[in-house]
Amino acid sequence: MVDSVEKAPNAELDWDRIEEKWRKRWTDDKLFETDPQSHKRKYFLTVAYPYPNSPQHVGHGRTYTLADVHARYKRMNNYNVLFPMGFHYTGTPIVSMSQRIKSNDLELIQTFQQIYKIPDDIISNFKEPKKIASYFHQEIKQGMNEMGYSIDWRREFTTIDKGYSKFISWQFRNLKKNGLIVQGSHPVGWCPQDQNPVSQHDTVGDIEPDLIEYVLVKFKFEDQYVVPTATLRPETIFGVTNLWINPDIKYVIAQVNNEKWIITKEAARKMEFLNASVTLISEINGSDLIGKSVFDEQRKQQVPIFPASFVDPNNGTGIVMSVPAHAPYDYQALVDLRKDDNTLRKYNITGNVIPIKIIQTDAYPSNESSAAETIVTSYSIRDQNDPKLEEATNKLYSDEFHNGKVLPDIDEIGNLSVIEARETIKAKIISQGIGTTMYELKNAVKCRCGTTCVVKLLTNQWFINYGDENWKKLAYELIDKMEILPEEIRQEFTNVIDWLKERACARKSGMGTKLPWDNEWIIESLADSVIYMAYYLLSRHISNNQDLQNNEDKVLADNLNDNFFDYVLLGKNDPDIVAKESKISIQLLEKIKNEFVYFYPVDSRHSGRDLVPNHLAFFIFNHAAIFPKDKWPKQIVVNGSVLMEGKKMSKSLGNIIPLRHAIEEYGADSIRLTMLASAEILQDSDFSFDLVKGIRAKLFEIYRNINAHLDVFRVQSSLDVDLEDVWISSRLQNVIMDTTSAIEKFRIREALHNILYLMDNDLEWYEKRKLAKNKSIFNSYLKEFIETRIKLLSPFAPYFCEEVWEIMGNDSYVSLVQWPESSQSKITLKSEDNERLIQSIIFDIQKITKVTKMVPKKISIYTASSIKCTLYRKILDRIQRQATPNFGQIMKEFVNDNEVKDLVKRNPDLVKKIIDDILSESVNVRERRMKIDSFDEKIPLEDGKSLLVSEVGNDQLELYIYSEDDNNKYDPKQKSKFARPYKPAIYIE
Ligand SMILES: [Zn+2]
Repeated sequence: MVDSVEKAPNAELDWDRIEEKWRKRWTDDKLFETDPQSHKRKYFLTVAYPYPNSPQHVGHGRTYTLADVHARYKRMNNYNVLFPMGFHYTGTPIVSMSQRIKSNDLELIQTFQQIYKIPDDIISNFKEPKKIASYFHQEIKQGMNEMGYSIDWRREFTTIDKGYSKFISWQFRNLKKNGLIVQGSHPVGWCPQDQNPVSQHDTVGDIEPDLIEYVLVKFKFEDQYVVPTATLRPETIFGVTNLWINPDIKYVIAQVNNEKWIITKEAARKMEFLNASVTLISEINGSDLIGKSVFDEQRKQQVPIFPASFVDPNNGTGIVMSVPAHAPYDYQALVDLRKDDNTLRKYNITGNVIPIKIIQTDAYPSNESSAAETIVTSYSIRDQNDPKLEEATNKLYSDEFHNGKVLPDIDEIGNLSVIEARETIKAKIISQGIGTTMYELKNAVKCRCGTTCVVKLLTNQWFINYGDENWKKLAYELIDKMEILPEEIRQEFTNVIDWLKERACARKSGMGTKLPWDNEWIIESLADSVIYMAYYLLSRHISNNQDLQNNEDKVLADNLNDNFFDYVLLGKNDPDIVAKESKISIQLLEKIKNEFVYFYPVDSRHSGRDLVPNHLAFFIFNHAAIFPKDKWPKQIVVNGSVLMEGKKMSKSLGNIIPLRHAIEEYGADSIRLTMLASAEILQDSDFSFDLVKGIRAKLFEIYRNINAHLDVFRVQSSLDVDLEDVWISSRLQNVIMDTTSAIEKFRIREALHNILYLMDNDLEWYEKRKLAKNKSIFNSYLKEFIETRIKLLSPFAPYFCEEVWEIMGNDSYVSLVQWPESSQSKITLKSEDNERLIQSIIFDIQKITKVTKMVPKKISIYTASSIKCTLYRKILDRIQRQATPNFGQIMKEFVNDNEVKDLVKRNPDLVKKIIDDILSESVNVRERRMKIDSFDEKIPLEDGKSLLVSEVGNDQLELYIYSEDDNNKYDPKQKSKFARPYKPAIYIE
């Protein structure tokens, strides 16, 4: 809309005022408080509750905003939507944060002061963990309100509420009864400082510790020492040619249980955490061992020790067995060694060994070179420090693991698959005492306290047994029934279900619920957050406060027992007894139960992608274990994270923007749109203030335009119907359809692109056409278009849309109006081609006049003859039936077709040109044109004359439109014969 700026009266947007106004109205009218309504379909949607150890920053906002958009969209689709929120206090991070404040940790204090602008007197309160939690709890809640999230706050709770603890105790007794909680010795990620297991919530950068299990193969050295090598591939011991030791590092001789081991100091420390008894005896230089040999007890033979710089003291035992036929590192290190005369001389070795092939795969068929040699050559590896070696190794290991078979002549494991051989050898050497296992962390993980984490073999630890085969089956069944968006991430879920094993579920410290049968332990944060969605339906009926004894509407947390939860959540037990035990009326008990029955299961669970391997997987497992199938969650929506100006957000980069600051600066709606518009759901979205400003300007433009066209909303109906009216109405139906289906599949970026940008293009064209005809655009078509646009935008920019909706004269909440539905009867197929034809003619004429630099005085336009249109139809039909058209074949058909053969023979290029015309159109356009019986190009061209004249810029322009068939046409240069369907010919004078 061209001249709207001048027309707009007082069109300033005061975001603060608008947000405050609508937030207050929503709250006063309890717009998002949701109770069961038996006549209405429910939609229960949740998002992972926040952990209140810092304020939310822009990066946190994406998941919550997406969930809110989803809630608002469903609400407009007539669902009774429940969107609640709680706060996760459980675990050690808040406690260790308070310890850091107590010890006056400057880094943390400065973060609070400088990034989050927290006053000093409040920071000094942070010595108490609960003060930290409740401060950030309120801070986050305030931010969520400011963002306009449509949350039912009556259901809010924290995970240290007494009622919640009762619920979690019930969950754990339930799991234990089903045999899913076991006590035993298992390796876990561990903080030696805190003496606690660690998982993603406890680590710097939220990294989940990834454990790796090595098999140690013991070689004998000088009869009295054990030299253990760590390997992931014990089946390759028959291919060992030598050992590798790093000459530049120190090793130790250590008493490990009843043996004397030679290993690195780091390895000795790791063994201690794995419960070996370890005493250091003496140190020994790596170089002292090189040139000597160890005894291989499997094959009863000596194996030489060679030097290699790739051996990492932190990895395994710091000693590596060399299998040059199947390990690219070993192969390359031998190549390097044989070239290094100094080293060979120094240690008096030759480096000559013969690689022993033991595994065959189709991927490495060569009879001459080994698998390792083949892959090292194909990756053009430089030397053993070449980073590409890692990639080559992963590839070869994976190929051999999945497709490899042991060669027939290898003792004991000949002809076995690699997988079988591995298990066989591992079991055998462990039972013979010449092998054992060792765990370490695959990734570098730091506890939030700053200590480097290790693997600890915990004894008497409580585990949730996600390795239970029957449980896994149920989890698969659940996920098979579940919708996962985007679908491409489903494989990640099945992989996690596959590999999950026992998982430590309790800690010795932190906030949370005590393990009900063993009070020394506290249930950890990734175990008490898996079925809590059910608690949203109970929380508002539970009082954690002893003083409210006499409140008849609530059940006292102290009075809750397992029978209560069994009855409400699982429908077990006698309600009379349960009511009596809980000291509540049977009516209240039934009310609570009915609320649960009405809202459960969870219809959609939103979360960031980083929670797939833990939280979301546990959510699936625990629902499968505890609830009957009709209460299993129905959908998971996973989104990527947020980058700031292309970079990961981090304290060190100083690019963490607290959410509330951003809202204050730019307004909530602009922030919401920016988070969602910059990427599709699984990609990382890139937040930038340029983008926010652009979006804000766009909203402002829409606002001004609507203010400028307020007249529209007073017009009752249009007097006459023009082509462009039919077109814009038809376009609108397509926008509604496309946007709705994009939102349904969470292609949010696409939906916003339609609403914010494509709709503007349509509006611009519509206005142009009207202006050229000297007609007003203030009509019912424009009204419907603008109203629909605001409705479509409303879930994304709720404050803005409420305000605009009101300005337009509505007294309803746009948040609650019916989502637009497209009407088939308003779709006019021809209208699209009508307007496109006008557009393309204008474009063509402008192109010609630009080149010739002439101002046209007279323009003649020729539309294609009817026989050409017949031919077009036939070719289109032919192409639609056959994806890759064969030109020769089509030609042959048409020279024998009585209807068109004369045309085709007279004009042999025509068929080729029409084929090209058709193929340059999208599939949608082709399909649409198939559905149109006939298209008279003269109608839109006549209708578009006014616009054509104004675009050419000559009021006196003479403009004529002829059909090629017209015998009386003016055609001095014989241009009409160039006309093709949808491509009229033009003659300009
Ligand atoms: Zn720690």
